[in-house]
Amino acid sequence: MLDALREEASVCTRCRLAESRTQVVFGVGSPTADLMFVGEAPGFHEDQQGFPFVGQAGKLLDTLLAGIGLAREHVYIANVIKCRPPGNRDPMPDEIEACESYLFRQIELIEPQVVATLGNFATKLLSGKQTGITRVHGQEQEVTLGGRGVLLYPLYHPAAALYTPAMLKVLEEDFARLPGLMSRLLVAPEVQESPEPLAAAEPAVQLGLF
Ligand code: URA
Repeated sequence: MLDALREEASVCTRCRLAESRTQVVFGVGSPTADLMFVGEAPGFHEDQQGFPFVGQAGKLLDTLLAGIGLAREHVYIANVIKCRPPGNRDPMPDEIEACESYLFRQIELIEPQVVATLGNFATKLLSGKQTGITRVHGQEQEVTLGGRGVLLYPLYHPAAALYTPAMLKVLEEDFARLPGLMSRLLVAPEVQESPEPLAAAEPAVQLGLF
């Protein structure tokens, strides 16, 4: 179903960005990921290659993932907007409105436990609030997305952190909390049913992911 949605999106003409894009950048990673990242919009390199976060910001994202023992194939990565805005300008409200159903459907199909939003656009769209990333980064919040309870975890956008050492440090610290958040979520439901909590913790640990 995710492939069918990708097919549908690949010929999308819902907004003006269809005229200037090289291709639609749908998303990449595991279709059953427990952790999903949502960025803003494809840039030059993403538009050329067809995958999200393959430029400089993507290299930083890969490094941050490696720092918590994860690689791209363990998570799912998508953007609010699936087509590159010309000159990398900010997405316009009507473009977000035209595109958002693809993202909501991706979340519905992938069923992640945690959605980590990268930057203001994804954070505001998925939290449904106008509070900016500076105030909410690193603070998990329970939201309902795709009819399910999901933990939203806002993070600074890697592109913003690339050239601002202080922001990079905060992004690294916020990232470092992800394994704890994930293991709490993945293990807790089993622990409640199990007489031996440690035994219930084994599968997540054995996976080596968290
Ligand atoms: N920035 C984003 O928000 N998304 C990408 O895919 C690349 C850079």
